[in-house]
Amino acid sequence: MTSASIKRVACPQCGKDAIFSPENPYRPFCSHRCQQIDLGAWANEDFRIPVAPEPEE
Ligand SMILES: [Zn+2]
Repeated sequence: MTSASIKRVACPQCGKDAIFSPENPYRPFCSHRCQQIDLGAWANEDFRIPVAPEPEE
């Protein structure tokens, strides 16, 4: 059980707390909406890239 190791970061888009864990597929954003705002400059909703696992400390 790892309930005590939830890591939070500030969403780059809106600045709210975002849960930085596998349960948040939009990390480091807080939500799908913020992620799409960031990606919207170059991607459309039908285009996806694989999410590479990031090393954790
Ligand atoms: Zn956000």
